[in-house]
Amino acid sequence: MPEMITSWNQLQGHHQQRELLRRTMRQGRLAHAWVFSGPAGIGKRQFARLLAMSVFCQQHPAEELAACGTCRGCRGVLAGTWPDLHELERSEGRQEIRIGQLVGEGDRRGREGLCCELSMTPQASDRRVAIIDDAHCMTTEAANALLKTLEEPPARSLILLITDDAASLLPTVRSRCQELRFFALTSQEVKTILLNEGYTDSEDTAEAVAAVCAGSVETAEQLLDPHLRELQQAVARELDQLDAVNTLNVCRTVLESIEQMSGSAAEQRQNAQWLLKFIAETVRRRLTILLAGDPGDRLTRQLGLRGGIDLLRPMLDRTIKASMQIDGMVPVPLAVAALFDELGQMLRRAFRDA
Ligand SMILES: [Zn+2]
Repeated sequence: MPEMITSWNQLQGHHQQRELLRRTMRQGRLAHAWVFSGPAGIGKRQFARLLAMSVFCQQHPAEELAACGTCRGCRGVLAGTWPDLHELERSEGRQEIRIGQLVGEGDRRGREGLCCELSMTPQASDRRVAIIDDAHCMTTEAANALLKTLEEPPARSLILLITDDAASLLPTVRSRCQELRFFALTSQEVKTILLNEGYTDSEDTAEAVAAVCAGSVETAEQLLDPHLRELQQAVARELDQLDAVNTLNVCRTVLESIEQMSGSAAEQRQNAQWLLKFIAETVRRRLTILLAGDPGDRLTRQLGLRGGIDLLRPMLDRTIKASMQIDGMVPVPLAVAALFDELGQMLRRAFRDA
């Protein structure tokens, strides 16, 4: 299981965002409510928790935006027991954040929930911080309840809304918050996270997955599915033997595995897409090696630099085309079979002419 990060040093990426917050804190201009927006699975929530830790750290003044990790405040935040930090997310198995979570349910309405807690005097420090994860999942009722708090924010409160879909927030809520945008991580950052936080202990796996997950740890986690990994490795091994690859066999293996792995048609498309990304990445890596100009490279020896490029570039384009076809609802078996058929033709042509 991935481990929780406990200090800013462990956070990968998002340096500019931290600097910006530090600057506004020093200038005493920190807004009372923020929307942290950006792709899923890049560490926005961890960033928000580190921010909360920095606010409550007893070793560092808040405007340093630093957290010692060992004082009562830091440990309380890490353990999820600090009384002035209120975290909210979708309750288990639900798609929404309901009004009750913000202002209480039934006859408890107005007496419990995040908004009520925020309005009370802090217990252990001089501030209260609220973190609402997947804030776009608030029902309209819930968002309107929060709106009242945003319109008249309790003194020294800090509200952090986290979302990968800021456009779906109620416009009135969004307009009362300062938005801080977060961006996809670099593959190097993802790789470091996968290794440091225990998602995998294989450097090769971390690198391969990081290369195709579009900067999202959440996506990388899905790609680490052992069946999918096994299939990727099998395909990569095959494709490495460009001159001797039996594309019909690869195609059959791919289709059988995807079918076994996938419960629904949507899952089938998703798994096929992951695999195509890996194939594209394998071809791209081969192309990079070729372009690096090592005369001892096998493909260079067989086809020459020009011949290698003329083979790999169309292979890459063709793989991307298959991915677009699957996006466009072409059935997976059809798109994959056509892809491998054409890849086979390209390979045979290239090595026959050589
Ligand atoms: Zn501390």
